[in-house]
Amino acid sequence: MTKRTKKVGVTGKYGVRYGASLRRDIRKIEVQQHARYQCPFCGRSTVKRVAAGIWKCTGKNCGKSIAGGAWTVSTAAATSARSTIRRLREMVEV
Ligand SMILES: [Zn+2]
Repeated sequence: MTKRTKKVGVTGKYGVRYGASLRRDIRKIEVQQHARYQCPFCGRSTVKRVAAGIWKCTGKNCGKSIAGGAWTVSTAAATSARSTIRRLREMVEV
């Protein structure tokens, strides 16, 4: 199969509307939004976006919901918050 779109990808649905740079910026986000992510519970790449911040594993015998970012499962802010919590917890335990 040949590649249908050279550079517009998923934003081809917007046609010529909204301007080239806006479509380029939104493409990155929409690709992340529709991608499948690895499930931290069962390890399969079956996590899909349900709504903003809500991600769900579609794997059999799993089906867990995950709170994440609006467009991706994990954000830079979430990662830093997680490591801060871990660091503070270790301080308390020692
Ligand atoms: Zn899973």
